[in-house]
Amino acid sequence: MENPPAFALRRQKLLPALRDARAGAYLATALPNIRYLSGFTGSNAALLITDERAILFTDPRYRTQASRESDCEVRIAKGPLSSEIAVAVQRLRLKSIALERNRIGFEEYQVLASVLSGVRLKPISGAVEALRMVKSADEIAAIRNSVELNSKALDQALRQFKPSMTEVDLAAEIEYRMRRLGADGTAFDTIVASGERTALPHAHPARRPIERNQLLLVDMGANVAGYASDMTRTFGVGRPDAKMRRMYRAVLESQLAAIAAVKPGVTCAQVDRAARSVLRGYGLEKLFVHSTGHGLGLEIHERPRIGRKEAAKLEPGMAITIEPGVYQEGIGGIRIEDTVVVTSRGCEILTPTGKELALL
Ligand code: ZN
Ligand code: ZN
Repeated sequence: MENPPAFALRRQKLLPALRDARAGAYLATALPNIRYLSGFTGSNAALLITDERAILFTDPRYRTQASRESDCEVRIAKGPLSSEIAVAVQRLRLKSIALERNRIGFEEYQVLASVLSGVRLKPISGAVEALRMVKSADEIAAIRNSVELNSKALDQALRQFKPSMTEVDLAAEIEYRMRRLGADGTAFDTIVASGERTALPHAHPARRPIERNQLLLVDMGANVAGYASDMTRTFGVGRPDAKMRRMYRAVLESQLAAIAAVKPGVTCAQVDRAARSVLRGYGLEKLFVHSTGHGLGLEIHERPRIGRKEAAKLEPGMAITIEPGVYQEGIGGIRIEDTVVVTSRGCEILTPTGKELALL
């Protein structure tokens, strides 16, 4: 998807963070960061980056794949990656290495600390994640593909829908359609909830029939060429009552207000406030129990977080979700979620699926 020079350029952009940390090298251990910096998509790897070198460590299963996918020097470790990393660190005479504090396991850290005794380990946070916040044109194209495939999968799955179908069956239908349309899989566990269970923001699909005159909430995302999509829609099965229809109107207005607030220079908190203030007008603010949205890309949850206290400012190229919701225990919940990209003037809504209350 990305050309090799793109990976080299990304590694270049990481060098200032190395200098700030006064470290001679950066050791990436989080797989999405490794993928971002090298192109490698395998499940076991570490990536060592210095001013001049980029060395990818993996195991024999990935010998062919690693050199095909990445533009880095590849080292195949017969045993643990840490021993191979230690050899490279010694050869390069590195005195200090920056580690991904927020993405390294405790045991992994202890093992590295013991094989790299004599090398100063400098845990730093979020250096690669900060680069990943602003997407390249190629990445936006990848997210767009993922979002469009996700919406198609929902359309196709809904054609198979009939009341009395179970939540699990609808989730399975959705995931099957994603695969048939070319997704690598889901970006997260598909949420299908009906009736009172829609009041659980992260309900797991249950083996129970979806009944008439209730709400149905579907939150789904595909993984397409490594990039996530994320969409929530709430439907009426038959005709939901007036109270639910009013809640739906409130959430839709709130979502539209937040989207209208998205533009470069605006803080994430301001976007969050735009969503909340509409719900306040309806007396529903207290039922909105999560943040308004999140960045997405190689992972389903990335920076920035669109939350109440987030001072980070939006920049063109950021891909974020806007997903206010209200949840009333014993009654039900409504969430409406789109993926949008910040443009130079505002934002573009990538999600093509309609948002007026659809009755199934
Ligand atoms: Zn979602
Ligand atoms: Zn989301």
